[in-house]
Amino acid sequence: MILAIESSCDETSVAVIENGEKILSNIVASQIKSHKRFGGVVPEVASRHHVEQITFCIEEALTEANVCVEDLTAVAVTYGPGLVGALLIGLSAAKAFAWANNLPLLPINHMAGHIYAARLVQPLEFPLMALLVSGGHTELVYMAENGSFEIIGETRDDAAGEAYDKVGRVLGLNYPSGKEIDALAHEGQDTYNFPRAMIKEDNFDFSFSGLKSAFINLTHNAEQRDEQLDRNDLAASFQASVVEVLVTKTIKACKAYPVKQLIVAGGVAANKGLREAMATAIENELPEMTLIVPPLRLCGDNAAMIGAAAHIELQKKHFATMALNADPSLAFQHI
Ligand code: ATP
Ligand code: MG
Ligand code: FE
Repeated sequence: MILAIESSCDETSVAVIENGEKILSNIVASQIKSHKRFGGVVPEVASRHHVEQITFCIEEALTEANVCVEDLTAVAVTYGPGLVGALLIGLSAAKAFAWANNLPLLPINHMAGHIYAARLVQPLEFPLMALLVSGGHTELVYMAENGSFEIIGETRDDAAGEAYDKVGRVLGLNYPSGKEIDALAHEGQDTYNFPRAMIKEDNFDFSFSGLKSAFINLTHNAEQRDEQLDRNDLAASFQASVVEVLVTKTIKACKAYPVKQLIVAGGVAANKGLREAMATAIENELPEMTLIVPPLRLCGDNAAMIGAAAHIELQKKHFATMALNADPSLAFQHI
């Protein structure tokens, strides 16, 4: 059993995971209310909230899982990528807990965690492809085996989630606005025909800043002419562009590599439009492949996914020393 701690952004989360696949508890304390009025996450505010929440979250995770310290094998913690101050709170708590209870410490990459959320749904079969779509990342990751990550394509500018949040701001929606745009999109039609950036290019890369600019220009020009645009149609048109590009490039990658499974992971994997379109595309074009999309509560940041990724590190006895530091721009490493 692994006690896992996640504090890379604005969720303080602690989980207890058995064998890297079974969730015994997964406590998530969200700070969204405190950041909303600033229109984004304020790093200093995030750190202070983590300090206030972390001890309670650890206690609650153990209580809910109904385990005591003696039952634990290791402590896992996210050490990057993320906000340095936020990461340091989880890291300090994990080190203190591990040291006090004589448990080994497992260093976990937050993005590997997002991918391994899929392991909490069903066993993974390699080789596999993962589409990582979150607030800070949009990547296609090829995994030849457990713990092996090869980025075969990524965004050249904005992440998909970032584009959702920026467009949401223009629409006057609260931060983060992915979920709300998703809901509006289902009430509208793709009438504005936004560009599908890089969709025909012979690579697996993405670009979302042109789409964001097209959206801002359209709304800005309409405002100046006192013209009314349909909010639902705007959301639907924006989402149609994002989803079509993500699905097209992902299917292309799955055809180019000998993969058995496709994982869609990260906060944007909660998107209903993306989930539906990806399922349809796989069914029609690659019916022999298995699509794994974690349930909504495992798409956003949580410690259960960190515990799932930690199981691989534990098997490989990849322990960290007490000198482990936070790495805000941590890249994928071969586990
Ligand atoms: P990273 O994981 O890259 O470090 P992060 O941890 O901040 O970044 P996540 O918590 O994984 O990001 O995801 C948050 C993002 O997901 C936000 O940009 C949010 O708008 C987006 N998101 C959440 N739900 C939806 C949805 N239904 N549709 C689209 N986007 C969504
Ligand atoms: Mg978050
Ligand atoms: Fe995340």
